[in-house]
Formats: sequence, structure tokens, C-alpha cells
Amino acid sequence: MSYLLVEHADVLVTMNQGRSEITDGALLVENNIIVNIDTSDEMQKYLHQHNINPDEIINSKGTVVLPGLINCHHHLYQTLTRTLGTAGGLSLFDWLKTLYPIWGQMDAESVYTSAKLGLIELILSGATTVADHLYLFPNGSRLDDEIAAAQELGVRFHPTRGSMSLGESKGGLPPDNICDTEEHILQDSQRVIETFHDAEDFSMCRIGLAPCSPFSVTADLMKQSAEMARSYKVVNLHTHLAETIDENRFCLEKFGKRPLEYMESLNWLGDDVWFAHMVHPDDDELKKLAHSCTGVCHCPSSNMILASGIAPIRQMVDAHIRVGLGVDGSASNDGNQMLGEARQAMLLQRVGWPGFESSAGRFSAREALELATLGGAEVLNRKDIGSLEVGKAADFVAFRIDDLHHAGGQSDKVASLLSCAPTGVWLSVINGSIIVQNGELLNVDIENLIIKHNQLAHKMLVKAGVA
Ligand code: ZN
Repeated sequence: MSYLLVEHADVLVTMNQGRSEITDGALLVENNIIVNIDTSDEMQKYLHQHNINPDEIINSKGTVVLPGLINCHHHLYQTLTRTLGTAGGLSLFDWLKTLYPIWGQMDAESVYTSAKLGLIELILSGATTVADHLYLFPNGSRLDDEIAAAQELGVRFHPTRGSMSLGESKGGLPPDNICDTEEHILQDSQRVIETFHDAEDFSMCRIGLAPCSPFSVTADLMKQSAEMARSYKVVNLHTHLAETIDENRFCLEKFGKRPLEYMESLNWLGDDVWFAHMVHPDDDELKKLAHSCTGVCHCPSSNMILASGIAPIRQMVDAHIRVGLGVDGSASNDGNQMLGEARQAMLLQRVGWPGFESSAGRFSAREALELATLGGAEVLNRKDIGSLEVGKAADFVAFRIDDLHHAGGQSDKVASLLSCAPTGVWLSVINGSIIVQNGELLNVDIENLIIKHNQLAHKMLVKAGVA
């Protein structure tokens, strides 16, 4: 039995039901579970009464402590192709068609290395749980490669086994040579579920099934994936949906239905489903999402970089739709900064769009932080993370607010995390283990990883004939 005490946080944000924020807060962890939360004074009394001498004590004065941030949508492999297409500006379909042939050069080593690099960037920006969507497996690469990276780093991981089966020759968007047969996709989906999926509380690895999008898989694969997922406990379903107007048009032309209507016809609505984006729902579709308890992952930076649009997150939250936050692929964000993504969510909702005037009061810093914590836990169907409460997993982070970037922002220390420039974590604890201390990721040689990563990225460009 091992105890970790974190005390003297300037503010400890619980995200509990009353959204309590504790001044001079303290948190006690036994192994991997939170056993007490209180003011630092009261915590001392508790320790004395229970005769507990913590094995490690961290003085977090000068910080705000939060539940670990939860990233609900990503393509970690895309760190290999940052800036390609985004610097000059391409919209989604053109961007994808530019990058598909380069991604087709990946292999097991590049999947592993990019996942490790992207996960490190996420951890250092506050993420403690990450969902990833890997949907192409060229040159012998497997979901196992990114799971190995997550296990080495100790991050809570929700890898989704993605797929593409609808190539250009069948009317889809991706080239045929990076698509797979549906038989193999389903076989491998079963393999990864049975090898890695842990349905229990405090699980560090939960598999999801994630056919890539309506324009890259068949209706049949969507249906069969849903059937397979639902034959296991808490294997959730994930895909991209209603990301762009182009996609709405594609679905109407090809299926005679709008994207959400199409997914409904495939039995893809429900509390075990979450869609990335949902930038372009109409009012009926918002009602349908709420009624069916279907989740949404909002990816504001990606939606801005690819000019996809502004998702109506205010309306979704008001309609009690489950909404989480994601940075999306590293190549349609070019960054894996989770706290920064919460800031983008806050800012973007304040901007007007057709039918909605700009309003600074439309979305607050605390609401954006809630999307990044509790919201993410709800989207991933996890009751054991997302808030700091007794009995929950010890996943939390601390950001310094006594530094250069927050100077003068002391009147609202919690809001300063998003209204001031986003920074890196000072402390990250995941499942009770200290992963980042004093701003340093422990036990990882980041410099050599970056060198290796950039060599692999260059090799891919050369093989694809673009470098
Ligand atoms: Zn995506």
C-alpha cells in the first residue's frame, strides 16, 4: 500500500457534481485511487486520525490542480506529416487526397514512434487519457504498435481500430492500395479486442471500433463493426461525421441521406457511439443526438485549419448532448496541445456564425475545461475518470500559475489557464503514478525520439516521391 499526498494547491478544481473548487486544496491517493480531497488543513487532520504517513508529498503551491484532460479524437500517426497541406491551406477532401499516398508509406516503426511522440506532447499539455483513431495499416503496421507506445508511457489509452474499405474504384475517397478487405478488418478487430481490451474500472486500455468515415468504408462494414462491438462489454463505436459541407453533399448524393440519417439507418446511434466533429448538424439532428445519447468530440483547431466550420457546441451542451474535446490528427492541427485545444473551444464558440451573433458570454473558460475533463469521460463512457472525487482514478495534473504567462491573472486562477497563453503541465499523475514532475517527463529520452521520428518522417516523404 502506497500513499501520495498533493497539498497546498492554490486551487483544486474537482469537477464534482457541485463543481467545487478548493482553495489551498489537497488530494490523497492510495495506490491508484483517490481516497480523500479537502483543504490542506483538513487533510492534515485526516492523516493524523487515520495514522497515514504518505510515501511521497508534493507541495503544489503556485499551481491549479485539475482532473487529467481527456483527448477523445486523434490520429497520432499524423505527427509524421505535420504542415503538409495545412500551411498553404487545403480543405478536408483535398488535404486527405494529398496525404493518403504519403501515409501509405508508414510501417510498424513509424506508427510506434509517432504515437510515442504525439502522446508525450499530449501528456505534457495535460492529457492523461487519450483516444486514438488509427485507420490505415500499411506495410505490416498494427494497432499493437501504438498500444506499445502508450503502455511504455503509462497513459490511459482508448485506441480505436479504424478501417478503410471503400477505395476510389468503388466510389470512395482513398486510393485502393491503402484500403483493406472487410474480412481482414473484422478478423483483426476481433483480435485486438480479445488481446488488449480491458472492460474493468480503472482500465488502462479500452479498444473501440472505428470505420473511418462514410466516404471511406461500406455500409456493410459499418453494420458488421457495430454488431461485433456490441457483442463485447464497453467496446464503443467511433467515426468521423458531418465534418464538412462536402461530406453532407457526398452522403446525399451517394446514399440519399444526410450523414446522421445515414448512420441511423446503419444502427449507429446510441450511448456506445461517439462521432468526431458534427460541425454541420441541423436542429432535428441535434435532437436525435440528444435523444439517442450519442456522443460528440469537438475538434476546434482542426475545424479551423481545414475551414470545416464552427460546430454548434453551445447548442449541444444546452441540449445535454455528451460532448468531449479532441485535438484531432496531428496533421490537421499540427499540434497536440490539449490545454490549448480547450482554449480554442472557448474562443471559437464566442465567434458568430450564420444564425448566431458573436457573444463573449457564449462559452466560459470553466465550460471549456469541463468539456476537456468530465465531458471527455462521458463521451468515452468512463465513470472512473474526469473528476477528482473519492473512489475515482488518480488521474490529475497541475499547471503553474505563478509564472511569466499568468502574471497578473491571479484574480481568477482557474480561468487564467485558458485566457492566458496555454502552458505545459508541472505535474501529471496517471493511475496513481507520477508521469511528469517539475515539468519533466520522467524516464524518456525525448531528444533521441525526435531525431528518430524526423528520420522516419523524411523516409516516408522520399518513398512517396515528395521529398
Ligand atoms: Zn479525425
